[in-house]
Amino acid sequence: MPIDSDSKEISAIGTETPPTESSMGEVVFEGMGVSRGIAIGVIHRHDAEAVNVPEYRLPLARVAAEKLRFDEAVERAIDQIGQLQGKAADLDGSAGEELGYLLEAYQQMLHGSRLVRGVLARIDGERLNAEAAVQQEINEIARGFEAMEDSYLAARVADVRDVGRRLLRNLMSHTAYRPFSVLPRNAVILADELTPADTALLDPRHVSGIATVLGGAESHTAIMARSLGLPAVLGVAGLMKGARTGEAVIVDGPLGRVIVNPTAKTLATYRKKRADHLRTRRALARLKDVPAITRDGARILLQANIELPSEVESVLASGAEGIGLLRSEFLYMNRDDVPGEDEQYTVLRELVERMGGRPVTIRTLDVGGDKLARSLGITPGPNPSLGLRAVRLSLARPELLDAQLCACLRASAHGPIRILVPMVATVEEMRAVREAMEVAVRKLKRKGVAMADPPPPLGVMIEVPGAALGADALAWQSDFFSIGTNDLTQYTLAIDRADETVAHLYNPLHPAVLRLIQFSAEAALRARIPIGVCGEVAGDPRFTALLLGLGIRDLSMSATNVPVVKQRIRTMDLIAATRRARVVMDQSDSARIAQLLDSFNAGEG
Ligand code: PEP
Ligand code: MG
Repeated sequence: MPIDSDSKEISAIGTETPPTESSMGEVVFEGMGVSRGIAIGVIHRHDAEAVNVPEYRLPLARVAAEKLRFDEAVERAIDQIGQLQGKAADLDGSAGEELGYLLEAYQQMLHGSRLVRGVLARIDGERLNAEAAVQQEINEIARGFEAMEDSYLAARVADVRDVGRRLLRNLMSHTAYRPFSVLPRNAVILADELTPADTALLDPRHVSGIATVLGGAESHTAIMARSLGLPAVLGVAGLMKGARTGEAVIVDGPLGRVIVNPTAKTLATYRKKRADHLRTRRALARLKDVPAITRDGARILLQANIELPSEVESVLASGAEGIGLLRSEFLYMNRDDVPGEDEQYTVLRELVERMGGRPVTIRTLDVGGDKLARSLGITPGPNPSLGLRAVRLSLARPELLDAQLCACLRASAHGPIRILVPMVATVEEMRAVREAMEVAVRKLKRKGVAMADPPPPLGVMIEVPGAALGADALAWQSDFFSIGTNDLTQYTLAIDRADETVAHLYNPLHPAVLRLIQFSAEAALRARIPIGVCGEVAGDPRFTALLLGLGIRDLSMSATNVPVVKQRIRTMDLIAATRRARVVMDQSDSARIAQLLDSFNAGEG
């Protein structure tokens, strides 16, 4: 699967009919550019409320079975509404009575009504699949209601749609349905919001870009878009008003701009811009096999962060020396059950083998915050970012941690791995994870299962201010540190990283964040354990000199950024960077810090 921006954008140039100019005229929206590159394509609106319905024609022989499938979905809906009616009857007063009337109306719609008859006729006559037949029938009934000049009847449209959605859910609950499985090439997804789980389903062969109304620059959706090499602009106010599926659109990642219905002149300008961008990336790709070494000879380890196993190809193509952060959440996303030890082992083993002896750092489960996995049945608490998440969840559900540790340990027989624990805030947490790992090791040894000897290193993610300030003590329980600057910035500055309304306040160059990075680096040096950075700053060449100057020699980032960071390293003097970092650390103002870095990067000393 092509992942990096180059190949994806070549596919974006593709064979699809070029988007055409519409009579509505060009509309330009501004937002936050969170992933580089330029997409030129056609809008695909993703409406989370609506069920995206597959549509296909049936062979004659399947018509009877399809009608039966629909009848079963109706029966299930009748049962479900019957249960709701039972609950409504227990409610006191007029609310219960009103709900009772409404549910009775729903029941009537499901008993041989125009809706049911209409759907069966479409399956029979048009040989439509049941989902599409329901969708089309609902739309037709709704149009009829809407045309009536009676406000009561017009309001019943919502009820018809509600019953329709229930039928669709029943029909689709048994299929491995994927919301983005049927897309034209060059689709640009426009949505109010895309969750990280939604984004994980996007196939860069069909999707050329993303734009959403909600979402911050360091949200996991943004990170996922960068990993997939998809140009993305988030936080675009007003985007969904009037944008229609099929219209032409441009997503300009570098400028944070979305242009709907571009004029022919704008299209021509952007085709040229995209060609320039691709040329630059191709030039950078030539750095793949040269070492990441500063002009004065310091060797830096550059590794890649991945969110999906499909990214391994792009990791290898980028010249990354290993996987510095494998976000294991993908194992739990977009499914209703929890993966067992064997399943996790199979996936990890394949991934480790594909990396061909290069190191892989596997992070234990880090759901919570903006990443939810319905399979775990977690209801978000009042403040999901501060709630039962990451290592806290793993320790509260020891069976989850045990399965994951055993899978990692077994994978360690096939290549060098490290295990990384997210959101650690206390020494006790780390001690508990270490004990769980020792138990898992003993259990596997008893069974004679192969694993690395000694067992893989166990490390702490430094991403909570308390962990950074307590780094000396944590180092006793850790074989290595990895600084997660995304969360470290979020928690130090109390800025929700996924909230576009405070995105302008999110700033990893705040002196407090930099002090915590520096303090952690010094603690690691004192304890003689390795330390790296795996937050998004690691992949931004603007920060490279500062991180190296603070003593970091190990950076892990989205594979697409490896070449550009390598280029920065190869043009830099470590001694000068260290000197500049010292000056930076004397500052109290992040604007001044940014200035000092920018002038250093521009070669002004
Ligand atoms: C971080 O917090 O910096 C990090 C790398 O982890 P994630 O982005 O998955 O929270
Ligand atoms: Mg984190």
